[in-house]
Amino acid sequence: MSSRDRGLLFIVSAPSGAGKTTLVERLVEQVPNLKLSRSYTSRPAREGETDGVDYNFLTRARFEAMIAAGEFLEWADVFGNLYGTSSRDTDDILASGSDLVLVIDVQGARKVRQDSVDATAVFVMPPSLHVLEERLRGRSKDSEDAIQRRLRVAREEVAAFAEYDYIVVNDELTAAVDRLRGIVVAERVRLRSMRGEAERIVRTFS
Ligand code: 5GP
Repeated sequence: MSSRDRGLLFIVSAPSGAGKTTLVERLVEQVPNLKLSRSYTSRPAREGETDGVDYNFLTRARFEAMIAAGEFLEWADVFGNLYGTSSRDTDDILASGSDLVLVIDVQGARKVRQDSVDATAVFVMPPSLHVLEERLRGRSKDSEDAIQRRLRVAREEVAAFAEYDYIVVNDELTAAVDRLRGIVVAERVRLRSMRGEAERIVRTFS
């Protein structure tokens, strides 16, 4: 294992219904030293969601105050609700040496890259629009209107795949988790991640 001082940042984006939540939860269960970022949102908690676990839930006013105070690494308006990643939370986790995954939408991912933050971005795609539609209906949490809106947004989002470093098609959960894990493992042994450790090893040769 590398002895990097600072953790690596990963971004995972996917259209809603592509199964990214389950995928990423499995990933962090399987990979040591990899944490899942907890976003802030102004959306009300859904049944079964807990504040401080699934999200940090806040009022819109409090969220806007955080924007004004420059507390977000990125934030976006998704389906009329505000979602954001705290700069301080991200920095604390990376500074502790742990790697971190942000599960954020396409707009948020763009923002992080525009700011030249060093991150590996992964786009998770459903195998087809048809499969996505079936999954959204299967969840049956949403009204027909909401499903149609999610599909419209999904059409725009999948078009952004080429902005990402890696593409994972979520055709089968276990296989998709394996591919995602492969990405994290590979990024951990890139030269830029391993340089410090390699230099230490080289010094033992002199
Ligand atoms: P949901 O309300 O279904 O939990 O999430 C809706 C969308 O918001 C998803 O596409 C999710 O990736 C995105 N999202 C969640 N947290 C953040 C965040 O911190 N920043 C951004 N930009 N998007 C987020």
